[in-house]
Amino acid sequence: MNRNNYVYRSKLVQPKRIRWKPIFFAILLVLAFPKLLMLFPSSSKDENGPTLTVTQTLDTVKQIQINSSRQAPVLVNEIDEYLLDVVEENLEEDSDSVLERIVRVARGDTLMGILLDAGLARSEAHAAVSALQEIYNPRALRPGHEVVLTFRPAGEDLEEDLFAGLRMQVDVDRNVMVLREDEEVFLAKEEHLELSVQQVAAQGEITSSLYAAAMQAGMPSPLLIQMIRALSYDIDFQRDLHPGDRFEALFEQQVDDQGQAVREGPLLFAKLETSGRALRIYRFTTPDGESDFFNERGQSVRKTLMLTPIDGARLSSGYGMRRHPILGYSRMHRGLDFAAPSGTPIMAAGDGVVTHAGRKGNYGITVEMRHPNDYTTLYAHMSRLASGMTKGKRVKQGQVIGYVGTTGMSTGPHLHYEVHLRGQHVNPAAVNSPPGRTLAGKDLELFKLAVLDVESRYAALAGKVLAGIDDQDAPVQPH
Ligand SMILES: [Zn+2]
Repeated sequence: MNRNNYVYRSKLVQPKRIRWKPIFFAILLVLAFPKLLMLFPSSSKDENGPTLTVTQTLDTVKQIQINSSRQAPVLVNEIDEYLLDVVEENLEEDSDSVLERIVRVARGDTLMGILLDAGLARSEAHAAVSALQEIYNPRALRPGHEVVLTFRPAGEDLEEDLFAGLRMQVDVDRNVMVLREDEEVFLAKEEHLELSVQQVAAQGEITSSLYAAAMQAGMPSPLLIQMIRALSYDIDFQRDLHPGDRFEALFEQQVDDQGQAVREGPLLFAKLETSGRALRIYRFTTPDGESDFFNERGQSVRKTLMLTPIDGARLSSGYGMRRHPILGYSRMHRGLDFAAPSGTPIMAAGDGVVTHAGRKGNYGITVEMRHPNDYTTLYAHMSRLASGMTKGKRVKQGQVIGYVGTTGMSTGPHLHYEVHLRGQHVNPAAVNSPPGRTLAGKDLELFKLAVLDVESRYAALAGKVLAGIDDQDAPVQPH
């Protein structure tokens, strides 16, 4: 989420040194109007960038917790006119005013440091941080986070600005805050922001790669990765995909009150039409609480071994292999080659134990592993091993074991993947390992209802998308 780009981490101006305090006081009065929140660039600057100050009355704090970070700055001219109008009628509310300073966290900052920089006494800062620790670990602060410090400005009854509390948005749906209760007593509170869920349909035709097609269709990459992973048990992403193949997907997004997608997923449904067959996957949560992808017959897509043990999204035929044809499995070749950019992660095709990790003659840097049911797999020509990859290590299916390279006897970056059954080479595409789980009985009935539901929702949404495209008179794609 991109917000408040105009706010920078800065050394806050010490309240005592503010020379233009009277001007500021007048602005405070103006801004006591509940409906108007104004962000006010201060006239002081330092080497780190502008200091930004927000003022408002206490009774608008709640509103600001949700809105202030996205509020656009108000033009100074507009404020001037407004100021003249309302300055008098707000005189009485002056004692309720608070002053806000927004601090953007920089690398190496601690909350304690930020509070001390803001002029708090050490005991006061410590009390505030301790209170916050009840609900949030301040070490989780990251560069770019924003901390909003609130002060009761100095006035008739106060000699200097009094620290009133702080708040920050620590997740897309969560604010935490600390409020002064008493002299040195602070209380922590949290607030959950409502996110709404929307379903989105995407579809496309593959021209160069699935990755390109999915990006063009507006499918966010975390969801594409979910789709590829779920299909990697059944599809050889190097050889099975062809220009003209089509995909469809239905997924969820969580959007904030500004309509911005802040969380992606999960993928609910995907269909890939390739080589005359259509593969469908459906996300389903069984009554015992397990979520997984199943095919239309209610079989888990998971199998003992993956057919594409690499990020299939970026594979495109011919990549980087001009002199070396992309070989399929044959008596001569006895493995599958996946041409992909150097550094592409390689995954363990199944749960197993590493039996070799390191150089192996013409294979270059290679990992071999043993799986249940007498299968072994081999991954060759890596640029490097994943850290901790040594003989005897247990690995999980999908775990990254190394990265694509061109070590050994190889003419371009690619993964050479072999599967052996009891010592004999087998074609990975012919490995018909049993599905991990097959739904039956009541579970299967529920699953079939869920399938009907998700397909009708996809059809309704995809229909809308198509109608929308027609309305906009989209250019016709040549075939
Ligand atoms: Zn090969």
